[in-house]
Amino acid sequence: MTDNEWSKILGWPGYRVYRSEINEADKTLRLWVRHKRGNRKLTCSGCGRRVSKIADSYEREVRDLPCFEYRTTVLIELSRVRCPDCGIKAERVEQLPSKAPFSKRFEEAVGQACESAAARRVAHQFGLAASTVRAIDLRYLKRWAAARRKPALRQMGVDEIHLGKKQKFLTVVCNLETGEPVWFGRERKKETLDEFFEQQLSGFQRSAIRAACVDMWEPFRQSIQQWAPQCKIVYDKFHIMQHANQAVDEVRRAEFFRKGGAAREVVKGKRWLLLSRWVHLNTHKKRQLNALFALNRRVMKAYLLKESLDRLWSYRYEGAMLRYLQSWIDQLRWQRLKPMEKLGWMLLNHLDGILNYCRIKVPLGMVEAVNGNIKALLRRGRGYSDMNYLLLKAQRLAATKIEFVAFQKAA
Ligand SMILES: [Zn+2]
Repeated sequence: MTDNEWSKILGWPGYRVYRSEINEADKTLRLWVRHKRGNRKLTCSGCGRRVSKIADSYEREVRDLPCFEYRTTVLIELSRVRCPDCGIKAERVEQLPSKAPFSKRFEEAVGQACESAAARRVAHQFGLAASTVRAIDLRYLKRWAAARRKPALRQMGVDEIHLGKKQKFLTVVCNLETGEPVWFGRERKKETLDEFFEQQLSGFQRSAIRAACVDMWEPFRQSIQQWAPQCKIVYDKFHIMQHANQAVDEVRRAEFFRKGGAAREVVKGKRWLLLSRWVHLNTHKKRQLNALFALNRRVMKAYLLKESLDRLWSYRYEGAMLRYLQSWIDQLRWQRLKPMEKLGWMLLNHLDGILNYCRIKVPLGMVEAVNGNIKALLRRGRGYSDMNYLLLKAQRLAATKIEFVAFQKAA
């Protein structure tokens, strides 16, 4: 094969191969490249200006995509330029995005592989260390984030994810219109959300936020009112139903606390059944739940109350929604279900934010979906000690899913 043919196969714009070496035993291919002739103005890596004065030359070795079965290494002749602004600096080369020994398209292949597989599997596939794969993936995501236009934040979701006993809470701010996480913060204090408003958004951006879906969590409400007073707070279905589930669970625990023997056997392992919606259960599961209800009418009543609360969000008019909520609270009377009564009080105290759902349309279930995606990432890939990496990963996941949906619609 001639150098000219190798240049075509390699396909680095502006570069030509001047030497090649094939090692059949090791299945490796080495290609030496340099600038094409007549292309002598180079780019300063410091400031990006075009410079013609060259200080000296050196060689760098990077791994590129394989050529069939051959692992390919490219050895590039590089120059240091004499930049009037920066002094002596390395030239900037499109194919070499970082100081790491990989070409841009090799890093892109690794980054793309990381979108659908855990770092450990990608590491095995490419014959790299898992830590190297994570570093490549992080650079790949940073380049993607730097190159794209960030969508405006008009409707935001705020949620918290429980990470465990040690790290406790992660506060997640997301864009409800695009379904992508925007920011992560440690803990879930007022100061946490303050930091987002103060450091991530300009005054103009803060004033552009129309609605915020949040949990009935006082510190978040205070922070939003301070930084974005025009923003309507919507206590969304996802969070309220989480509280309803907790209330049902409390009733179950209180009712079966002292019961032994047969009753305990029936209740065992039924916790998640009580937390599921009736429509999502199959016949067998429904029968199990009915057996539990036969033992205790109060648990059944709590479950039915939770089920009927769900219908609150089917109302589109404030008056109708309010009437439904009132009749729901009326049903609590004489039931002596303390946790449900507590929930009822909580709903009354946050009435305005609940009714805001009728005043401003926010996508239901978006906060839940974003939350679910982040949890799936955390489960799949340990080693997200770097919150920025996790955020970029979740943003990319959301963006590619949306692109996919948009593509399907177009087709
Ligand atoms: Zn410069």
